[in-house]
Amino acid sequence: MKITRYKKVQKYMKFYYNNYGFHQPYQILVDGTFCFSAFKEQINIREQIPKYLNSQVKLLTTRCIIVETEKIAKKAHGALTILKQYGIHECDHKEPISGAKCILSMIGKRNEKHYILASQDRDLQEALRTRAGIPLLYFHNKSPTLDKPSRASYDNAGQSLQTNNIFISETQNKTLKSMKKALGVAEKVENVKIPPKKKKTHNPNPLSCKKKKKKPGQQVVAKKDPGTACGKVRKRNKNKLPKHVQKQ
Ligand SMILES: [Zn+2]
Repeated sequence: MKITRYKKVQKYMKFYYNNYGFHQPYQILVDGTFCFSAFKEQINIREQIPKYLNSQVKLLTTRCIIVETEKIAKKAHGALTILKQYGIHECDHKEPISGAKCILSMIGKRNEKHYILASQDRDLQEALRTRAGIPLLYFHNKSPTLDKPSRASYDNAGQSLQTNNIFISETQNKTLKSMKKALGVAEKVENVKIPPKKKKTHNPNPLSCKKKKKKPGQQVVAKKDPGTACGKVRKRNKNKLPKHVQKQ
């Protein structure tokens, strides 16, 4: 694995860890499309995913996903075999629904169980990018790839932890802040969070230092300078003057 690729995934997982409380072993919710792709490309999910994330993972699926894959079993027999190896998380759907719908309901509004979705379903990915805190894993050119955290994830970063997992929108948070300000409550907390940066007394630039030391002298010199410079020029002019002019 290339180092940049490795660094990227570490950075993203750190983001989810810091802002959404993800922790190892990561719960990877795997759907039929992901297994289908893995089977087709002969990728060993159980080996490749922990290696890629450099973490312990739990591979999970739901009954709805299995039932859906079973329906197309002829085409996706390999995928089904893979899926059936994974742990089953209860989705409470008595009548099996489509895999995508089941996943959406499992993740819910806040992804409280910290699922990482492993799916090749683009529509599902798009739908989940509008929500915050849902890592998306898929195969890109046969390589496992963790999607960059979505705009929504960045926008709401930190809030799910700060508010004990109660989701608050950006605007709501602003109103809350202004209310707290009005009541004079907020500042103490905020001050703790962000310690004000001390203005560092920078060491003066050594170059400027030297100049400063010279300054008193320089000022005198400076005063003399224009004169001497002029004098030099004048001298030169005088020197250039032909002798007979000088005599005159
Ligand atoms: Zn279900």
